[in-house]
Amino acid sequence: MDQTVIIIGAGISGLAAANRFTQKGFKDFIILESSNYIGGRINTIPFQNSFIEIGAQWMHGTVNNPVYDIALSLNAVDTSADTAQTRYYSIQDGTRQNENLVEAIEKDTLKIIENLKNLIDENKFNQSLGELLDQTYPILENKYKLNLDPLIIRGIFSQALNNQRFESACDDLYDVSANGWNNFEILEGDLLCKNKYGYSKITDYLASKLADGLIKLNQIVEKIDWLGDEVVVSVLDSLSGKRTNYNGKAVLSTVSLGILKRNHSQLFKPSLPLSKIQSIDRLGFGILNKIFIIFDGDFEPDFQGVQIIWKDTLGFELQWSKTKWNLDNSDFFKAFDNYEKLPNHKNVLFCFNVGKNADYIEKLEDECILDVISELLERNFPFADLPKPIKVIRSKWNSNPNTRGTYSYIKVGSSIEDMKTLAQNVDNKLFFAGEATTFKYYGTVHGAYITGYERAEEILASLENSLE
Ligand SMILES: Cc1cc2nc3c(=O)[nH]c(=O)nc-3n(C[C@H](O)[C@H](O)[C@H](O)COP(=O)(O)OP(=O)(O)OC[C@H]3O[C@@H](n4cnc5c(N)ncnc54)[C@H](O)[C@@H]3O)c2cc1C
Repeated sequence: MDQTVIIIGAGISGLAAANRFTQKGFKDFIILESSNYIGGRINTIPFQNSFIEIGAQWMHGTVNNPVYDIALSLNAVDTSADTAQTRYYSIQDGTRQNENLVEAIEKDTLKIIENLKNLIDENKFNQSLGELLDQTYPILENKYKLNLDPLIIRGIFSQALNNQRFESACDDLYDVSANGWNNFEILEGDLLCKNKYGYSKITDYLASKLADGLIKLNQIVEKIDWLGDEVVVSVLDSLSGKRTNYNGKAVLSTVSLGILKRNHSQLFKPSLPLSKIQSIDRLGFGILNKIFIIFDGDFEPDFQGVQIIWKDTLGFELQWSKTKWNLDNSDFFKAFDNYEKLPNHKNVLFCFNVGKNADYIEKLEDECILDVISELLERNFPFADLPKPIKVIRSKWNSNPNTRGTYSYIKVGSSIEDMKTLAQNVDNKLFFAGEATTFKYYGTVHGAYITGYERAEEILASLENSLE
C-alpha cells in the first residue's frame, strides 16, 4: 500500500501533525496506531457519571498553549474552583501533625525550588537538582527547628519535592540535570487547568477533523526499512494477525522515548545514526503511575486529602497486608503517602507513585494494593473517620507495550542537545515528533502537540523541495 507520509502513533503529536496536513490541503497520509484507542498517553475513561484520567490531566498554562486554545474553542475548560481545604497530616506512628506548620514548610520548599534557578551554574554539565536542593535545605531546617523535630521537617521537605519527582517521573532528583530542568519553559496562566469533559475530548476532536479511515488502530509497526528511495513500514494487525507493508516517501515516528530506548534497533533498518542512538540512550524516561482509590462512602464536602509524613529513624512495617500478600521487605509502600480527593468524584482519592516504587507497584495485584492502602490509612488516620477503600483503578505505564514508561526528562549526563538531536530528521525520510523531541516543553501535552505541528510543516517543505 502506498501513502506519501506514514505517521506512526495516534497520540496528540501524531494527531497534531495529521491536522496540520489536513489544514494545508495535504491528504496523502495515514496514521498507524498500535493500541485500540486514539490518544496514547491521553486516556480518559468514563467512571461514575464522570471520568478518570489514566494519563495526562492538566493543561499546564493558558497563554500560548495551543491545547488550551482548542479546549477553549470547544467550551471544554473546567472553570469550577475546588474549595475543599481540610487535609490531615500524620507521621507513620499515627501522630497527627499541625497542618498550618506542615503547609508553611511546604510553601517554603516551593519557594526554595523557585529560587534554585539562581544557583544553577550553566557551565556545570553534571549538576543535579538533588545536589542543589541539599545546598539549600539547611535554610529550611534552621527556620523551623525550634517548632518541630528536624527529622519531621526533613520528611515534609522530602514530600514537598514530590511534585518535582512527578514532573520528571523519576524518584531520584540526583538523576535530573539542573541545566536541563532550567531550560524547561513554563507557560503563563493557570498551570493546573482542567478539562471539563476529560482530556480525550481534545484528541477525539482532532481525530474527528480527519477524513474517515485515515487512522488505523491495532496496527503495530514492527519495522521501518529506510534503505531504499522509499520507506517500507511493516505492520502487524494485532486483531487479525495479518502482516502488511506500507510504502511511503517519509515516516513520522511519534512513538515514546521509552519505545525508542527498548526497540530502536529492531524498529529501524538500517539502524538510526549513532548520534541519535546515543541521545536516546542518554535521556531519561521515567515511570509515573496513578492509583485511584474508590471508597464505600462519600467524603465530607470540605475534605481535600491526607498525607503521611515519613519520619526517618521511626520504624514502620506493614503488618496484616504484608502477611496476607507475603510481601518482601521493600519499602515501596512509602510511595502511598499523599492522597487527594478528585474534585469530580465524592468518593475517590488518588495518589501518584513514581520511579522504582512505581515499577514495583505495577507488578502487584489490585487487591494487594487495596489492602496495603487500607492498612496505611487505618493506622495513620484513626482520627480522620475516613470511609473504607473498596476498589482501585490504576495506570501501568511502564508495562504498557505502547509506551514503556511515562515521559522524558533531561538526565544528568544528557542535555537539551539530545532532545534537539532526537528531533532531527534522518535523510529527509525519517521524521520524529512527540514530547521527548522538545527541550522547552518535554513531558507535556502542549509540547507534544507543538512538535507534531512543526514536523508536519517540515515534512511538507521537504516534500516540496524533492519535487523541485
Ligand atoms: C500518568 C501521566 C500523567 C501525565 N500528566 C500530564 C499532565 O497533567 N499534563 C500534561 O501536559 N502532560 C501530562 N502527561 C504527559 C503527556 O500525556 C504526554 O507528554 C503526551 O500525551 C505525549 O504525546 P505523544 O504524542 O508524544 O506520545 P503518545 O501519546 O505516547 O503517542 C504515541 C502513540 O504511538 C503509539 N505507538 C507506540 N508504538 C507503536 C508502534 N510500534 N506502532 C504503532 N503505534 C505505536 C502509542 O500507542 C501512542 O498512541 C502525562 C503523562 C502520563 C503518562
